[in-house]
Amino acid sequence: QSHLRLYTCLFLPQPVCLQRDLSVLNLLDSRSVMGDLGWVAYPKNGWEEIGEVDEDYAPIHTYQVCRVMEQNQNNWLHTNWILTEGAQRVYIELKFTLRDCNSLPGGVGTCKETFNMYYYETDDRVLKESRYIKIDTIAADESFTELDLGDRVMKLNTEVRDLGPLSRKGFYLAFQDLGACIALVSVRVFYKRCPFLVKSLAEFPDTIPASEASQLVEVVGRCVNNSVPLYEPPRMHCSTEGEWLVPIGKCVCKPGFEEISGSCQVCKMGFYRSQLESSACSKCPPHSVARQMGATACSCEDGYYKIDSDPPSMACTRPPSAPRNAISNVNETSVFLEWSIPVETGGRKDIRYNILCRRVLPDGRGLEECGPNVRFLPRRLGLSNTSVMVADLQSHTNYSFLLEAINGVSELAKDHAKQYVTLNVTTNQAAPSPVSVVRKGHTGKSSIALSWAEPDRPNGIILEYEIKYFEKEQDSSYTIIKSKETEMVVEGLKPSSVYIFQVRARTSAGYGAFSRRFEFQTSPYLTATSERAQASIIAVAITLALVLLAVVAGFLLSGRLSQCCLSFIRRCGYSKAKQDPEEEKMHFHNGHIKFPGVRTYIDPLTYEDPNQAVHEFAQEIDVSCISIERIIGAGEFGEVCSGPLRLPGKREIQVAIKTLKAGYTEQQRRDFLWEASIMGQFNHPNIIRLEGVVTKSKPVMIITEYMENGSLDTFLKKNDGQFTVIQLVGMLRGIASGMRYLSDMGYVHRDLAARNILVNSNLVCKVSDFGLSRVLEDDAEAAYTTRGGKIPIRWTAPEAIAYRKFTSASDVWSYGIVMWEVMSYGERPYWDMSNQDVIKAVEESYRLPGPMDCPEALYHLMMDCWQRERSSRPKFDEIVCLLDKFIRNPCSLKKLVNSSHRVSNLLVEHASVEGDCGTRSKTIGEWLDSIKMGRYTELFMEGGYSSLETVAQMTSEDLRRVGVNLAGHQKKIITSIQEMRVHMNSTNSTVNI
Ligand code: AMP
Repeated sequence: QSHLRLYTCLFLPQPVCLQRDLSVLNLLDSRSVMGDLGWVAYPKNGWEEIGEVDEDYAPIHTYQVCRVMEQNQNNWLHTNWILTEGAQRVYIELKFTLRDCNSLPGGVGTCKETFNMYYYETDDRVLKESRYIKIDTIAADESFTELDLGDRVMKLNTEVRDLGPLSRKGFYLAFQDLGACIALVSVRVFYKRCPFLVKSLAEFPDTIPASEASQLVEVVGRCVNNSVPLYEPPRMHCSTEGEWLVPIGKCVCKPGFEEISGSCQVCKMGFYRSQLESSACSKCPPHSVARQMGATACSCEDGYYKIDSDPPSMACTRPPSAPRNAISNVNETSVFLEWSIPVETGGRKDIRYNILCRRVLPDGRGLEECGPNVRFLPRRLGLSNTSVMVADLQSHTNYSFLLEAINGVSELAKDHAKQYVTLNVTTNQAAPSPVSVVRKGHTGKSSIALSWAEPDRPNGIILEYEIKYFEKEQDSSYTIIKSKETEMVVEGLKPSSVYIFQVRARTSAGYGAFSRRFEFQTSPYLTATSERAQASIIAVAITLALVLLAVVAGFLLSGRLSQCCLSFIRRCGYSKAKQDPEEEKMHFHNGHIKFPGVRTYIDPLTYEDPNQAVHEFAQEIDVSCISIERIIGAGEFGEVCSGPLRLPGKREIQVAIKTLKAGYTEQQRRDFLWEASIMGQFNHPNIIRLEGVVTKSKPVMIITEYMENGSLDTFLKKNDGQFTVIQLVGMLRGIASGMRYLSDMGYVHRDLAARNILVNSNLVCKVSDFGLSRVLEDDAEAAYTTRGGKIPIRWTAPEAIAYRKFTSASDVWSYGIVMWEVMSYGERPYWDMSNQDVIKAVEESYRLPGPMDCPEALYHLMMDCWQRERSSRPKFDEIVCLLDKFIRNPCSLKKLVNSSHRVSNLLVEHASVEGDCGTRSKTIGEWLDSIKMGRYTELFMEGGYSSLETVAQMTSEDLRRVGVNLAGHQKKIITSIQEMRVHMNSTNSTVNI
């Protein structure tokens, strides 16, 4: 066996620095044991421990066996008890040499070239050999021969096996030789672990992996060195290979510290670190200090403050100074207070204003706080705007208002002397003047109809009237009833009795004085016939009066018209003088009375059979003439579609087709066709034209002209800032012209709003959506009022909201709102204010401010449309007249209310307006006059052709559409347009050069 000993010495591997690999821990290394290994061999003459030296002459232990020549070998060698140290999987690395049986002298007989490795798990040292479990049969990759011995070539084999899962404290290993020639040079047993690690300020302990290869052991790290977890505790995952994988979360330095070179260092004085997310200590913001190291926040200097919600990086701030430039504007018993922001805002943006209202007591007896009855719009405290409306003050009273500016730190600055600005005002509104005359109307045996006129000086909107009455000589007991109208029937009276009546009005300022006493007597008991006779006398009298009124009104109207024509020629403007209220009544109530030369609207309700009304005003169209091509909108009754209409003998035109969806009730059918009965009565370039109806087949349809650009509000929103002022005024002129026509017809629209105006491809605007109450039901903007019925509050005049007084004058109010919508490109009137607040604000004289970039002249017109007194509002003919004047003289639109920096065509426009002011270009009227076609000026305007630029685009087709039907006239105008185009092109190219 000496040759084997020799070889083991030669086979020794190079020393390997295993312990340096921290993820591998040895449980046994036969080569590192100094003395005897003490392993047990059985039988004694089998495995043999032989001490050797390695190449550095360090002693090592080997076990050898080589009983190849003998039969029935079964030599066991078992190790000492090996503690697992908690490892569940261990690795066994064997280094050995094995003799090639073929190279043995004397034949291979019983020679083996393998040996077996076993293990036995146990919690104590007690060894039960019979319980050994086989790990594997180990064969050599390379065996050596006699030849190798001669060459002294090393043939050291290394085999590694793993073992697990282990669950006991320790185990024994055993090697079984069945007749091979082996030298076991080293046995190393080790396990793998994830070694202690510090990563991102978190430390992770030594961790033993799980026994299964696919399992990861999650380990929560501990933040070290003044650090804390950021969001969640840091975690790592230990793999079976002893590698740390998948880091989650991390530690960061705690506030007051910052990370420098992997460790947390305290913040210096004057610096702070408050948030875990920030990386480094920051310098204290202005007006704050950190007097100690490690500050997590800086404290404010004296006189400066911070609130909890201020970010730590924000400077310390202080309360603001007093508001500046405060002014008051007294309007009856309301005061509008306005001021500028303080010079010193204290360094904050959350500036708010508080108002303290105090009433000056008579005779200088001091001041008392205004009671809860005084209203502040939008509120008294915490105002963010620099204005407030104070309403419901007492009339003819002195008030002192203190305006105070506060900000987020005012509460903290208790020592800070409050700075106010004082405004002293005197209100001037009296309650309404007394009602001067109360008239008696129809008198019955138990009732008297009363009527009276509004007080001469209402001093505000009259909210209601109180009627006080009592039987003459019995004034100790009286009755009070209320009315919103200027008439009422008092019932429950005694026959043949004299009653005293007094009426007084109430405005937001309170009640006026009662009128003087009026004495009226009820009728005596009458026989039925005499009462009927009386009734018929009254009826005849009323009829006569009506006829007389009609004639008078006819005269008045024709006078008004001719006056308008005159004013059209001479000058534009409108008088705000009171109009005769009866005239309006004639328009509004008496649809059937025809004024000379003016067609009048007939309420379809006057027809007993609604179908008859439809066919009187609308042409029946055969459904085969219509093709539906696409859906363009949704109406209340069904889809709105478009497509061509081919009527026999007529040009094909594009139409909109409103359909009535299947399953309708008779009432719905009537309501649907109602609109056609109204629309069919109109014929005007700015009113949507009815082509006809389909009622004889299903679905029932209403066919109107097609408006390519859909509804005006959406169209404007889509094209924000894209039009010139003249184009916008042209659109408004069209709407006003349509409304003038409707009001002349005696039709009150009630729902005039940009959403109910349609726009065609030439930007011509046409009024649509007819049908009175039905339309309002259909309008999402319409809200129920306290008196019932739906009203689109934002667009409606106060008297129509308060007591349903819908007239052409209330349509004018709505027109003013439409002007505002147009000039602000579809902005929602009163923005997000609630309907209730809108009503209140309007009642208290608040009006929409001028839209950005809106010419002042147009805003004045809007404001006139919003006159509280409806008789002071302009009439539609006056509005058309004024807009024509603006179009003819664009420099009148030069001055803007408030200009913005928004990029829009207005910039181009200013230039063109300026240009027009310098070298004024021809107006449409002047151009048509110059070619002797002046008679068409009005038609051009109505067709939306308000500038020469738009006219230059016109075709013969457009001319026909406008109403120029004579071929000769068409030719003349087209020739002039062509010349105009040539001229414009040449001017443009000059500009370009
Ligand atoms: P209406 O039921 O009249 O409110 O119509 C519903 C929608 O259909 C409108 O908002 C328009 O967008 C569209 N519409 C109605 N009539 C026409 C028309 N004559 N031309 C183009 N679009 C229309």
